[in-house]
Amino acid sequence: MSEVMAGTAGIRGRAKELDAADELAGLRARFVLDDVVYLDGNSLGALPAAVPGRLDDVVRRQWGELRIRSWEESGWWTAPERIGDLIAPLVGAAPGQIVVGDSTSVNVFKAVVAAVRLAGEGRDEILVDATTFPTDGYIAESAARMTGCALRPVAPGEVAGALGPRTAAVLLNHVDYRTGRLHDLPALTAAVHEAGARMVWDLCHSAGALPVGLDEHGVDLAVGCTYKYLNGGPGSPAYLYVRSDLQDRFDSPLPGWNSHAEPFGMRREFEPAPGALRGRVGTPDILSMLALEAALEVWDGVSVEAVRAKSLALTDFFLECVAAYVPDGAVESLTPAAHAERGSQVALRCPDAGEVMKRLIERGVVGDFRRPDVLRFGFTPLYVGFGDVERAARVLAETVGT
Ligand SMILES: *Cc1c(COP(=O)(O)O)cnc(C)c1O
Repeated sequence: MSEVMAGTAGIRGRAKELDAADELAGLRARFVLDDVVYLDGNSLGALPAAVPGRLDDVVRRQWGELRIRSWEESGWWTAPERIGDLIAPLVGAAPGQIVVGDSTSVNVFKAVVAAVRLAGEGRDEILVDATTFPTDGYIAESAARMTGCALRPVAPGEVAGALGPRTAAVLLNHVDYRTGRLHDLPALTAAVHEAGARMVWDLCHSAGALPVGLDEHGVDLAVGCTYKYLNGGPGSPAYLYVRSDLQDRFDSPLPGWNSHAEPFGMRREFEPAPGALRGRVGTPDILSMLALEAALEVWDGVSVEAVRAKSLALTDFFLECVAAYVPDGAVESLTPAAHAERGSQVALRCPDAGEVMKRLIERGVVGDFRRPDVLRFGFTPLYVGFGDVERAARVLAETVGT
């Protein structure tokens, strides 16, 4: 037996042991999956098994039979805050601070403008993650123009030095979508507060994969999407967190009739609703929202800490398998080795990454490709196992070798 083959057998044995000891392994049965190794749950989470039946009921009975009565009788009207309270424990928030609705992009807009409006006189600068997912940057730029602020892109590692008496608000990503780098939310939030500014976190790549601790760390505002690690389905609505003590002063740039204190009063003057409801805008997208509600049932009895522990074990094991199987120099990891700096994905730089990912997908290993040269693999601990990880690395080694 060659050395590589002996190594392969050893690693396969370890994968079996790790799967056997995995307390979360049974959760995979809560999803609709096949024998594809699905490592793209950080882009579109897999389908939870409870969703099709729920959507069928929502469409046929709630809409089809109850029609308009469902706004009250099926709880449609209160869905944004009810589902917000289901997301709350996953991001370390007490109830009453999260509403679900609109896209992440729209919620970034609400949060950044509201953060500037909360900031004191003379604060006219917004700092934004220079490496951000583009939509956050575009929206921050427009929010800055509208509020008369200057926009300053800074690398998250340089935020502390860029803060000053003019800083109004800071918009950062908890986990970088390309590299998978996890930023230090407690320390950065504290530094922003020390400078007298407001902190807005984008949790798209962290919520559902690791503990966030919004309340514990005094975050002001946060947004996130629900179709990645929360498995809400394509285009499922995003969420907005407004810390409870800021809600009275939360001045939304998109006040709609759904955020009115008396939505059915049909009054000319706007009077904001109390609490998190103020983050609502117009009629909620009920079909997507109730699919999300059913999808969140997969979290029943699951601790985010256990998910985090498995996530780190999965990414560690993947990096180990890649190091063992893939020829030296063929790929380079962009994902930090330190656990404290790693989200739930591994990004590998590789020449020809677009072609390589195409071939991986053909062979049943689904990740994604980010221009110009990055292979991205997301690890959703609810349904990815260690055997999957080993297979992905093995197929990758065969693929880059061809
Ligand atoms: C996925 C993602 C988004 C998506 O925004 P949409 O409005 O849902 O399209 C925004 N920001 C970040 C950081 C993301 O990772």
